[in-house]
Amino acid sequence: MAFFRDFVVHTPEEIERIRVAMQMTAQVRDQLVELVRPGMSTLQIDMLAGDLIQAAGGTSGFLNYHGFPGNICISLNDEVVHGIGVANRIVQESDIVSVDIGVKYNGAVGDSAITFGFGELPKDTKRLLTATREALMAGIAAAVKGNCIRDISRAVEKRAMADRLGIVREMVGHGVGIKLHEPPDVPNYVTPVRGPKLVPGMVLAIEPMLNLGGNRITQDSDGWTIRTKDGSLSAHFEHSILITENKPEILTWPKTM
Ligand code: MG
Ligand code: MG
Repeated sequence: MAFFRDFVVHTPEEIERIRVAMQMTAQVRDQLVELVRPGMSTLQIDMLAGDLIQAAGGTSGFLNYHGFPGNICISLNDEVVHGIGVANRIVQESDIVSVDIGVKYNGAVGDSAITFGFGELPKDTKRLLTATREALMAGIAAAVKGNCIRDISRAVEKRAMADRLGIVREMVGHGVGIKLHEPPDVPNYVTPVRGPKLVPGMVLAIEPMLNLGGNRITQDSDGWTIRTKDGSLSAHFEHSILITENKPEILTWPKTM
């Protein structure tokens, strides 16, 4: 069920603070991707992310959020989202790794995720990662003033369907900026309602979660990790964007600060 009734339009002063937290988020994400290697435990990756967040001058936007125990979410292979770093989980050469990061700074918070592997990837894995990244970019391209939330959803769904990928429905994109989750929801599939019209000042986290197999998911007994029910690989790409008078501004685009 998607909730569309409310949406948040940020003030220019808020947007300036959000911009900084988003840039920190992008910086930590890209530094982390460069440093993650097979042989590391997912707990090591989480601690490394914690160090990078601190070095950037921020704090984790995820730690303790609804009781979440990690600095970031690390989800491998068939894990969709919300994986927790653990000491005995060692990243293998053949794994795909999703990291989801939010840096909090000066009363604002970022949100961005990426999925990657190591070396030459099997054809289907490459297809999944490419399609999920392209679904995100298609959603962003539809995030223009005057469109509605459903136009973003439709663009994401269309790209996912082109590769017959499973679209996770239980978790969706969202407003973001001052709080990690703000209204409205941004589903990755077309819903019966069109949702709010997009207006400048809205900040949205668009985040397709796509599976090589079906769309069904299940939650682990740790109370957090979400994985595909059929064990198929899952990918997750997320950017936070600002609706403007013209093209959307990708706030978590890679940039050297
Ligand atoms: Mg995220
Ligand atoms: Mg998000």
